Amino acid sequence: MTERRDELAGNLAKVERRIAAACEAAGRKREEVTLIVVTKTYPASDVRILSELGVRHVAENRDQDAAPKAAACADLPLSWHFVGQLQTNKVRSVVGYAHTVQSVDRSRLVTALSKEAVRQERELGCLIQVALDAGVSGRGERGGVSPDGVEELAALVAGAPGLRLDGLMTVAPLTGEYAGRQQAAFERLMELSTSVRGAHPAATMVSAGMSADLEQAVAAGATHVRVGTAVLGVRPRLG
Ligand SMILES: *Cc1c(COP(=O)(O)O)cnc(C)c1O
Repeated sequence: MTERRDELAGNLAKVERRIAAACEAAGRKREEVTLIVVTKTYPASDVRILSELGVRHVAENRDQDAAPKAAACADLPLSWHFVGQLQTNKVRSVVGYAHTVQSVDRSRLVTALSKEAVRQERELGCLIQVALDAGVSGRGERGGVSPDGVEELAALVAGAPGLRLDGLMTVAPLTGEYAGRQQAAFERLMELSTSVRGAHPAATMVSAGMSADLEQAVAAGATHVRVGTAVLGVRPRLG
């Protein structure tokens, strides 16, 4: 256990140095960027260690793993982010523990989240997930709404009881015009964020960047980076 603690502390320190260096390079203050540790596939015991090490934001992408983990860690001062593709039949469970859903990408999901947030008397933060590689279907491979659909969905969230529009999220595309051009992708997300903030000034969150590309996200102006493997280690294949 102390071995794992040392490992996580060392990895966290490295990630912290990377974020600090990226902020400095971009002329940004370190406080402008919040680290969210993606704990998917790792046990509740790791989440507990991370909390002891000062982590305050954790993210999960599958309800079946996240629900028991959040329950086991309910005593910790953590904010839980849901970052995976979300089916409406999981909404009741997710609203039970998530403070923020970062993967809002369709109107049906907005309706379901709103209804459930009201029922559970919770206020749920929502990010619109943008698919910068969205094909003709208007949906991305890994979820997300195409840039064309952001404004309409943002308005829907902003007007939905129980929901709070916090901003935008993206995952750098592996295909399409932004493949291999993470910073350009994140700059496009920033443009969309500027336009959303025109109508919704409080929607200031810009969640972008993972272990491999957090520097590009910070350079582009991200307010939140979502880091998994660089803190916890390489995940087993599934997940
Ligand atoms: C897994 C995951 C991350 C973290 O990715 P790493 O490469 O492990 O840092 C970030 N965002 C989302 C949506 C994820 O599913």
